Amino acid sequence: GTLTDKVAVVTGAASGIGRAVAQAYAREGAKVVVSDISVGGGEETVKLIKDAGGDAFFIVADTAKPDDNERLVEQAVEQYGALHIACNNAGIGGPSGPTGEYPIEGWDKVIAINLSGVFYGCRYQIPALLQAGGGVIVNMASILGQVGFANSAAYVAAKHGVVGLTKNIALEYAAGGIRANAVGPAFINTPLLKDMDDDTINWLVSKHPAGRLGEASEVAELVLWLSTDKASFVNGAYYAVDGGYLAQ
Ligand code: NAD
Repeated sequence: GTLTDKVAVVTGAASGIGRAVAQAYAREGAKVVVSDISVGGGEETVKLIKDAGGDAFFIVADTAKPDDNERLVEQAVEQYGALHIACNNAGIGGPSGPTGEYPIEGWDKVIAINLSGVFYGCRYQIPALLQAGGGVIVNMASILGQVGFANSAAYVAAKHGVVGLTKNIALEYAAGGIRANAVGPAFINTPLLKDMDDDTINWLVSKHPAGRLGEASEVAELVLWLSTDKASFVNGAYYAVDGGYLAQ
């Protein structure tokens, strides 16, 4: 595979896009550290990978906690000897409402997980990637890292922040052999959308020129490509996987 002998960490890998990324990495020969706050889902991802002949193990970690991110990297290196790839994917949707009424605690939680969580991850992954002689970071942004979306100020701000953070890492560590890119999915069929009613889903579908939502596996293919040497000259970029959403 294109990732044979590589060690990869995926956060938020108990579900949805993160699980699909972990499976894609494993399929390409990587040893995968599956991480999440959800133990049951994380262990299920490991089982799916092992049943398919891959190598993975689970570490529980809350990306909103700096110490958990530090421990995650330590335990990954302890288990597999190094760290080469990190996909910082864990994220939540957060409350819905106009900015002038947006719940403060909702804002704080979304920023803590979706933005600070990605920073904490990179903060502790980068030294390990440098130790390994270089590596790859793929941060999960969103189409909402490029455009606004009414009633989602915290999510939109966090995802724009992820895109900026990713550019900075690229500038600071290109010479150290680290590539960092951001991926921007449009609306994807995952449990993240589980609280939406049919009317909302149909409205969302109508906003995608593709005429449908995306699948987690379609996002995973892009993350996988960015994580391999095939993308050796791709750095500091934002890549959409959005069924044409941003082309409008
Ligand atoms: P999901 O809810 O299926 O999976 C998210 C995972 O993150 C869950 O397993 C959850 O337990 C985990 N998680 C939540 N908070 C965490 C924390 N503090 N620490 C560790 N893990 C935590 O959602 P998904 O759709 O697969 O979303 C994955 C990423 O993709 C998110 O960053 C999301 O913002 C982004 N994204 C999703 C969509 C979409 O439409 N589904 C679109 C664009 C971007």
